[in-house]
Amino acid sequence: MAKIIDGKAIAAKIRGEIAAEARKLEAGGIKPGLAVVLVGEDPASKVYVSMKEKACHDVGIFSDEYKLHEDTGEADLLALIDRLNSDPRIHGILVQLPLPKHIDTEKVLEAISPRKDVDGFHPYNVGRLVVGKPLFRPCTPYGVMVMLKEAGVDLAGKEVVVVGRSNIVGKPVAFMCLQQNATVTLCHSRTRDLAAKVAAADIVIAAVGQPEMIKGQWIKEGAVVIDVGVNRVGEKKLVGDVEYAAASERASAITPVPGGVGPMTITMLLHNTVESAKRHKSEM
Ligand code: NAP
Repeated sequence: MAKIIDGKAIAAKIRGEIAAEARKLEAGGIKPGLAVVLVGEDPASKVYVSMKEKACHDVGIFSDEYKLHEDTGEADLLALIDRLNSDPRIHGILVQLPLPKHIDTEKVLEAISPRKDVDGFHPYNVGRLVVGKPLFRPCTPYGVMVMLKEAGVDLAGKEVVVVGRSNIVGKPVAFMCLQQNATVTLCHSRTRDLAAKVAAADIVIAAVGQPEMIKGQWIKEGAVVIDVGVNRVGEKKLVGDVEYAAASERASAITPVPGGVGPMTITMLLHNTVESAKRHKSEM
């Protein structure tokens, strides 16, 4: 049976380290600050935002919340971002997605100063990642990389198969693995014979958003499986993109859903905010 890569335990350990860093910064006169902007009433977004606020509070990061009405105009949102860009108390700006349809998401993300872009979605930060000189790494794929490291997985020379090519998970995690000298195959909905691609992988990273579509029998004996997928099945049950029980019998290590990659995303947001505060301090 595969070893379970416990995201909750890894996240708790890293949050402890982040809290210590935040205390050190505060003692030196800088309290790390994150601005969280929510537009509208999307229930899932409200839950994410309150989880982020609580997580900030728990590690000693100042969180400044802006809960804006659904009808907020794009110009008003851009003006707020402009103010936050020049607010010295704020080291990270997070605009919760999705935004209401009347607002151009790309324009808003590009308005955030790349030096406060703790989500790592600004094209400047995407470009830095691609050329191998990252400033802010997007949180979910960054969390995946930390989990691999904590599990003692060395990527150099390994065959990594990433399934899913979204801008927030698949593409950035592929570049992060490449940076660590893996040979990376990036699969998507037009990939032919996905089963054969997965079967050749030493490390499988699944970010598809379809319940258990990656079958356990595709997994190579001894492979490492990282499942980013979170899919609701029925009223209460959450499952990943990988057929967990069958994959566990073949893999050497695997992340569960829930309790795998999930807890890492907010953890890396906290990490990015503290790193940003440190960077601002060193430039003062
Ligand atoms: P997304 O934007 O919907 O992208 C899904 C990707 O999967 C696309 O690239 C798509 O290919 C590919 N795909 C769809 N069906 C496929 C198939 N049959 N075979 C191969 N590839 C297929 O999703 P996302 O935002 O990256 O999220 C992926 C999953 O991760 C979701 O379950 C999401 O909830 C979860 N997630 C979790 C966290 C976390 O914190 N744990 C964070 C973010 C996302 P095309 O490009 O060809 O359409």
